[in-house]
Amino acid sequence: MSESIQFLTSTTLSSVPGLVHGFFTRSGGVSEPPYDSLNASWSNGDSEQAVSENLSRIMGTMRLDRLVSSRQVHADTINLVSESTLPSFKSRSPILLADPGDALVTGLSGTGVLIKIADCQSVLLVDPEKHIAANVHSGWRGSVQNIAGKTVEYLREYLKCNPARMLAAVGPSLGPCCAEYKNFQSEFPPELWHFQTRPGYFDFWAMTRDQLVKSGVPDENIDILGRCTVCEKTMFFSYRGERNTGRMAAVIGWND
Ligand SMILES: [Zn+2]
Repeated sequence: MSESIQFLTSTTLSSVPGLVHGFFTRSGGVSEPPYDSLNASWSNGDSEQAVSENLSRIMGTMRLDRLVSSRQVHADTINLVSESTLPSFKSRSPILLADPGDALVTGLSGTGVLIKIADCQSVLLVDPEKHIAANVHSGWRGSVQNIAGKTVEYLREYLKCNPARMLAAVGPSLGPCCAEYKNFQSEFPPELWHFQTRPGYFDFWAMTRDQLVKSGVPDENIDILGRCTVCEKTMFFSYRGERNTGRMAAVIGWND
């Protein structure tokens, strides 16, 4: 694999001073098939050294001194990355691991937070005035639990952020074209059924937008990239599309 490292950005977030963010594609890493090539996860059978090298490249590309991730458990636990919580994290070179959870929040300079995805959403949130950024892992279980909305609420309550000035971006993920849920009647509560675009197919992008708006984030501050990971398998890892595959990195942080 000799392609260069690539990542997508949100125009909504690009104007925030000191903020760095990127939705990385599967290109530009060293992992062998079926993890080719920029696999960010140690949990799917890839080689330890390859994933470490991939993560080093991601950190270097974002110009971050420190990158924090966690084992994602499809729940609604939110972890704060701060001077007081850092000493409790485990080191797994080249990154640090917070406790298991599905949202990471930080205001620390030189520090990024990483979510690993292959169809699930990475929802990035920023309050520019408070110098706070969050990265939320929201698959269908996260959507059902409204982890995006809960993270906005956490930022408001504990870090005095104001949802009215928050910016949000949703990266490449399972699109309404491919999000078929045959068992939705047992998996999703009835209040989410209206997000069907045709029988059994759901628009999780619209669901996340709705959850953020209901939490107070202005609709015009929410940027859904609208790229479906299943439809673009050569560019993105897709669990639905390939099953045994890698995980992409979505990163947000501060390099000021
Ligand atoms: Zn699709």
